[in-house]
Amino acid sequence: MDDFIYRGRAGEGLENTGNDAGARQPVVRGRSTGSAGEELFCEGVPLSRIAREVGTPVYVYSYNTLTRHFKVFDEAFDGIPHVICFAMKANSNIAVVKAFSALGGGADVVSGGELFRALKAGVEPSKIVYAGVGKTEREIEAALTAGILMFNIESQEELLAIDGVAGRLGVKALIALRVNPDVDAKTHPYISTGLKKNKFGVSIEQAMDEYERAEALPNVKVVGIHQHIGSQLTEISPFVDSLKKTAELARRLKSKGFGIKYIDVGGGLGIRYLNEKPPLPSELARAIRPVLEDLGCTLVFEPGRVLAGNAGCLVTKVLYRKSTAEKNFIIVDAGMNDLVRPTLYQAYHEIKQVVPTDAPEFSADVVGPICETGDFLAKDRAMRVPQPGEFLAVMSAGAYGFTMSSNYNSRPRAAEVMVDGDGYYIIRRREDYEDLVSGEEIPEFLEEKAARDA
Ligand SMILES: *Cc1c(COP(=O)(O)O)cnc(C)c1O
Repeated sequence: MDDFIYRGRAGEGLENTGNDAGARQPVVRGRSTGSAGEELFCEGVPLSRIAREVGTPVYVYSYNTLTRHFKVFDEAFDGIPHVICFAMKANSNIAVVKAFSALGGGADVVSGGELFRALKAGVEPSKIVYAGVGKTEREIEAALTAGILMFNIESQEELLAIDGVAGRLGVKALIALRVNPDVDAKTHPYISTGLKKNKFGVSIEQAMDEYERAEALPNVKVVGIHQHIGSQLTEISPFVDSLKKTAELARRLKSKGFGIKYIDVGGGLGIRYLNEKPPLPSELARAIRPVLEDLGCTLVFEPGRVLAGNAGCLVTKVLYRKSTAEKNFIIVDAGMNDLVRPTLYQAYHEIKQVVPTDAPEFSADVVGPICETGDFLAKDRAMRVPQPGEFLAVMSAGAYGFTMSSNYNSRPRAAEVMVDGDGYYIIRRREDYEDLVSGEEIPEFLEEKAARDA
């Protein structure tokens, strides 16, 4: 996270703290904690300033990191026709999506809501791909009307539904079949998607039959093959192994006359949260070029985490400290409703003091205000004893952070901020209590009953 660095409080003494930005060389430079007299900046803005002015909890994204990651990924595939469709489920704020679309990026959407956001952010419909096992007729219609690049089809029944809607609208639906190459992505089981036992796609063995069936439908046109084998991959071999199978299928399809124009490689490239050493985009490119180059297809990529993950952090305020016979707890104002990854995947997120102190070190659980034992951001974490009112930055939170947040415990969702150089912009205001109940209604009969029974 080259744009999240400790600097002297006067703005000097630039000290890089390491937590590398996924798309760069994974080297730790400097210390992972700042020292007293410094403070944590996002680009040119002290996080403490944003926390004071916008309040906490707040998500902060670096425009510079977002765009650098996009460019690093894009340049890795120089010389091969390709489209980078940012996986919006990682971070669907329209300002973030706009930052990518302005660089020529497209979008990988998995719902009508994400499609709506992509269009709002100015993504060209011809650069939108649409995956997901449960597309509804209404969502299919919206995507056909927009004129997206292609649907990534997950089942035969879905294919028939799309054919039906396209027929009704008098258009052709461009489709790729999502194949499930049965390759172990070696990642957390909840984010592994390319195994036979997963709900996604159709098996390579079935694929040929499915393609024949698709081609026979009147309102569907086969244009590609899609795969996505999982998320937070830290090795290259699952990509190569699965793409070899997919490339082989593409060759067979082409020899039978199918117009396969796109190979959609999916997303999944991992990032460094702690000490993972994920491949760089350039290394991925070097490994898969030979597998795909001679197919003469346009490659579609759907990176999410690798573009956004290390471009953002969640800033939270320490409320209270408490110690039991067993443990120390730091209670902060962000909870599992704001960042669920630790709870859901036992994910590790580095936590930094926004304004470092030389307080003694201890080990503590960093927990939120939610009434659940599973509400934690870190367990048994070595850290300096923070003071109430102090700000902590939960790092690597730019992907699957805000997008997975909820209003659980009736907590308004956090604000989102984008930093550009010395300035920052609120790209989503903090929700308020009225937002919580907007759309809810008390039916008249309840009011009447209450009046009668009173
Ligand atoms: C989640 C998802 C992605 C993005 O995965 P990352 O690991 O964030 O890169 C891409 N494609 C599909 C179909 C997905 O479901």
